[in-house]
Amino acid sequence: MAITYTVFFTIFGLVFGSFYNVVGLRVPKKESIAFPPSHCTKCDRQLTALDLVPVFSYLFLRGRCRSCGEKIHWVYPLMEFITGVLFAISFWKIGFEPELIIAILFVSLLVIITVSDIAYMLIPDKVLLPIGALLLVLRLFIPLDPWWDSLLGASLGFSILLLIAMASKGGMGGGDIKLFFVIGLVLGVSGTLMTLFFASLIGSIAGIIMLRIKNQGRKTPVPFGPSIALGAVIVYFWSDALLNWYMNFWG
Ligand SMILES: [Zn+2]
Repeated sequence: MAITYTVFFTIFGLVFGSFYNVVGLRVPKKESIAFPPSHCTKCDRQLTALDLVPVFSYLFLRGRCRSCGEKIHWVYPLMEFITGVLFAISFWKIGFEPELIIAILFVSLLVIITVSDIAYMLIPDKVLLPIGALLLVLRLFIPLDPWWDSLLGASLGFSILLLIAMASKGGMGGGDIKLFFVIGLVLGVSGTLMTLFFASLIGSIAGIIMLRIKNQGRKTPVPFGPSIALGAVIVYFWSDALLNWYMNFWG
């Protein structure tokens, strides 16, 4: 039965991932997420059901628009795939527990802000604040142990990022600071610190790779949101395993 549910959550995630692409790309531009319906950005042809099957349409159409042949960005199917995987992992790790609601909301938020941050270098308040507020309320009913760990984690995450932002004079956006408040709510103090560690590590590696591939100047900013999101996902699902490994490694 667990397999059936996992497949169900994967499909659920693929479909929502497709929607999160739309939210992440349209909300920062203050466009409606419902109108106009999805269309090719070059030839304007309205997409039909055949174009909109998550991941499979992209593979089937070989990454091109059916009418004009315009290349479809690989970020779309990738984010659909990632959302499918994250929904499946959420169910697989947590099962039908109240925490599953928090997991699904949290990974959804991380996917949407990743899309926005890659596309526009910003994390939209219109997405972050409502989902953050919802997670705050949910954490009162589905608490960490001890219950105040979430509030302390949120304050700590917010303060540390604010300090980094002040010290780096614009190297860190306001969105990243608010995002760490929400991460603190979900993960608590130790999870927030671990996320910061992983996000910095991933961000540095990504920065070096970007520098190599694109041969960009040092001043080209790299969005930090995707690195934070990846770090937060690793910590949320695998912090226990990582801590065990760490203890065994040094013990
Ligand atoms: Zn087209």
